[in-house]
Amino acid sequence: MRLQRFATEVLVIGAGPAGLAAGYTAVRSGRHAILVDENPAPGGQIWRGEWTTPRSSEAALWFDKVRRAPLTILTGIRVIAEVAERTLLGEDQQTAYEFRYKTLILATGARERFLPFPGWTLPNVMGAGGLQALVKMGFPIRGKRVVVAGTGPLLLAVAAYLRAHGARVLMIAEQAPLSRLLWLGRGLWRFPTKAWQALILRGRLFDVPYRSSCWPLSANGDGRLQSVTLQCGSRTREIPCDYLACGFHLVPNVELALLLRCEVREGCVRVNEFQETSRANIFCAGEPTGIGGVDLALVEGQIAGYAAAGRPEAARALFPQRDRWRRFASRLNRTFALRPELKKLPDAQTIVCRCEDVPRGRLEEYRSWREAKLHTRCGMGPCQGRICGPAVEFLFGWTMESIRPPIFPARVESLIASPEQGESVWR
Ligand SMILES: Cc1cc2nc3c(=O)[nH]c(=O)nc-3n(C[C@H](O)[C@H](O)[C@H](O)COP(=O)(O)OP(=O)(O)OC[C@H]3O[C@@H](n4cnc5c(N)ncnc54)[C@H](O)[C@@H]3O)c2cc1C
Repeated sequence: MRLQRFATEVLVIGAGPAGLAAGYTAVRSGRHAILVDENPAPGGQIWRGEWTTPRSSEAALWFDKVRRAPLTILTGIRVIAEVAERTLLGEDQQTAYEFRYKTLILATGARERFLPFPGWTLPNVMGAGGLQALVKMGFPIRGKRVVVAGTGPLLLAVAAYLRAHGARVLMIAEQAPLSRLLWLGRGLWRFPTKAWQALILRGRLFDVPYRSSCWPLSANGDGRLQSVTLQCGSRTREIPCDYLACGFHLVPNVELALLLRCEVREGCVRVNEFQETSRANIFCAGEPTGIGGVDLALVEGQIAGYAAAGRPEAARALFPQRDRWRRFASRLNRTFALRPELKKLPDAQTIVCRCEDVPRGRLEEYRSWREAKLHTRCGMGPCQGRICGPAVEFLFGWTMESIRPPIFPARVESLIASPEQGESVWR
């Protein structure tokens, strides 16, 4: 196993909007910085697949700035463990990588929250963002009947994207009640760009029914999805479809921060006003500090970049902008809070941990995540609790107590690759 070693002043993990902004700001402030991402190209979730052909002016602007900056970008490398003080280990298909840093910025983003309901493991039931990501990579959706369900602003974005690629979007089922959606809408005058984006999206979906207080009760089919049954207000209805794109807002990716012993509270990495975590010289920006969207991710990334480069005054100048996007994020999170009825969706036979085939009925025998894990292997499969963990937290109120390296399934060769074997890329 080859081992390549890098050393830098500022190491940024995650090349989504937050990481790009952080890396760019650090190098423009005179620091040497390396940006690492597991995806094949920078862009994160929102700008996935757009590095060579950006679709929005904002993506084009940031990609252009980053390309012109002396920032080293390493893609296709997943960071999996800490191997020594201020040293992280990563791997790709062939090689292990060791990254030594003075200052670290975590910009690891978020993932979708999945909630179990009968039939949710059937083929063609997918995460909303997951189906969008597949289509971005060329998955054929033209002519397919799609129901988009769950909660959050992502549903509209996904529905509009799928439709633009030829899907027949039959309905958007949003679990939030109309009263909260109206409350969100009334406050949008303070965020004109967001109001405009919402109007554009709604315009693109003008003839697609958008139902509030509506959520999936079951996905039905023999071997693959054939229809979805929805609770819409007091009525239930069944809609035949080819795909169900379903996600219940987002969950911060905090595993690397946990591994590095940064304080995490209520599922989010705790940071001070300069985006510094409870560990000195480890900063965090974007979704891991709280779900907030692309604008908050960009401004937090810049603040972290400036702070990491020792320019607190430049960081401070961005605080008002961050406050504004935090207010927007807090409105979003209140609007799309999960309703308690969703806890009743899975019955005793419904699989909760799909890696280890653990149904809800088995979990009910236990009182904590640890107990359930020890007795059922819930959360011990390849996803390491990334999917069932947030679901179990919502259903039973159990939180993961600790995380063990490697944070992703990794090759033993990578874990044992010793520095002596390696060639050094000192920067
Ligand atoms: C599936 C999905 C689809 C979305 N689609 C949209 C959309 O269409 N429109 C919209 O407005 N918002 C969308 N969002 C929300 C959007 O992601 C955020 O608003 C914004 O991109 C947050 O930026 P970020 O930099 O914090 O995180 P992200 O964009 O998530 O970037 C984080 C990056 O970190 C990398 N990473 C994480 N852990 C590691 C590791 N251990 N090693 C190496 N790399 C790592 C990931 O590969 C990723 O590229 C989506 C979110 C998700 C989860």
